[in-house]
Amino acid sequence: MPPPLSPEASDALRATEDAIRTLPYEVGVAFDSAGREVVRRHGDVDQLEFGLAELRAMRGGTLTHNHPVSVAYPEGDPRRGGISFSLEDILLAIQESLAEIRAVSPGYLHSMRPHGRRWPRRAMVRRAYAEARRAEQQEDLVATRDGTLDYATAQADFYHLVWDRVAAQAGLDYAREAR
Ligand SMILES: [Zn+2]
Repeated sequence: MPPPLSPEASDALRATEDAIRTLPYEVGVAFDSAGREVVRRHGDVDQLEFGLAELRAMRGGTLTHNHPVSVAYPEGDPRRGGISFSLEDILLAIQESLAEIRAVSPGYLHSMRPHGRRWPRRAMVRRAYAEARRAEQQEDLVATRDGTLDYATAQADFYHLVWDRVAAQAGLDYAREAR
């Protein structure tokens, strides 16, 4: 596993995340292993595309970004906390051998790293993801039908629970931290 960021670099990363977590558009910021900012890209509400030079610059580093969709929900709505990674986020992390990918939103920091030295293969993650989605959808359907789970909470936590399952299956270190 790559070495953790220095305390200074980790402070810079956190400060960046606090500045972008409630923005209504997506911002991606990458740091190299020394904690220097090497890429900063603005996107729209649910899309962030990096150019080839940016991908090369972030290789092996740490990429953080915000998930703006939750900002539209009112205070008190469970979906305002923020949703977890997209499949594309994790495939990008694998493709560029990132040390860590992070996603922030008003209520959470999400983090994904390889468990051990290497990321699993993308095909394996895709498969585990499809399986986890199906299983999670099935559980949510049962729980929302019998009234033990409300729809907004199910929606808010869906991808978080999917990645929890995928991480266990595929060999990933996944965490969601409340802020
Ligand atoms: Zn994302």
